[in-house]
Amino acid sequence: MAREFSKDIYNSQRWRKVAHAYAESQHYVCERCHNRSFVGTGKPPRFIVHHKQHLSPENVGDDNVVYGWDNLELLCIYCHNAVHGAGLDRECLFDDDGNPIGIVDHSR
Ligand SMILES: [Zn+2]
Ligand SMILES: [Zn+2]
Repeated sequence: MAREFSKDIYNSQRWRKVAHAYAESQHYVCERCHNRSFVGTGKPPRFIVHHKQHLSPENVGDDNVVYGWDNLELLCIYCHNAVHGAGLDRECLFDDDGNPIGIVDHSR
């Protein structure tokens, strides 16, 4: 199933800014397991800013859903996988310094 509707958002400066600011506000600690042991290990991506209410073609026009902090959650990659199971959407990953480094597309 195509997820193109969310691609532009996840690639946008606006989203990256919001995601970065949100991750910073959480001090890069996973909101579920409070794991931050990935930091400084030099291992690949570890945190994902997750949309609690997943983006869909119906809600991508709603700024509160897409950019509202109430709908965001900072998760480590393990908790994120647990949340998604088979995986649903593209989201934003951060390096140790909190810089957005890419998009995970777990719809594939
Ligand atoms: Zn976690
Ligand atoms: Zn997610």
